[in-house]
Amino acid sequence: MQQTVRCPKCAAVVDDPTQPCPRCGYVMEHPQRRRYQRHALVSLVVVLSGYALGMVGTATRLELLGISGLVMGFVGGVWLMVSLYLLLRTGV
Ligand SMILES: [Zn+2]
Repeated sequence: MQQTVRCPKCAAVVDDPTQPCPRCGYVMEHPQRRRYQRHALVSLVVVLSGYALGMVGTATRLELLGISGLVMGFVGGVWLMVSLYLLLRTGV
């Protein structure tokens, strides 16, 4: 269900609001933008704490902790990439 969106700057009809205006290049505020920002932030925390956990696990020779930390860091990294990609699509 897509409603017609008009560019707030030049009033041209924009088919895809996630893309800049085809006439003047104005980047519109995407409704999902805040959500993507939150995702990017949370996943960044997951990546950092995951790798930190992995380091602690490796240093203390707790293999299970180290492995789960590295897995967490990896999954968080993929998540971060996806949210950054979605965020960049909404315009920076
Ligand atoms: Zn425009």
